[in-house]
Amino acid sequence: MKYLLLIAFVAVIWWVLKNRSGRPAQRPSKASPDPEMMVICAHCGVHLPQSDSVDENGLYFCCEAHRQAGKASGRP
Ligand SMILES: [Zn+2]
Repeated sequence: MKYLLLIAFVAVIWWVLKNRSGRPAQRPSKASPDPEMMVICAHCGVHLPQSDSVDENGLYFCCEAHRQAGKASGRP
């Protein structure tokens, strides 16, 4: 009975080691392969995805109104 427990213990250790070394450490964050770049509205400072932003001359704005406002007050 003692040997049975020992064999079971060794089997569990072997199984854990095999599972650990079997696959390379993959991060679960790989689930989102293409993280969107976030930009900051140059007028109000809100963070938004780049695809949702309006860009002009390297500046990003959250909406068309802020782009107009930023253009009006952007050049002192
Ligand atoms: Zn804005």
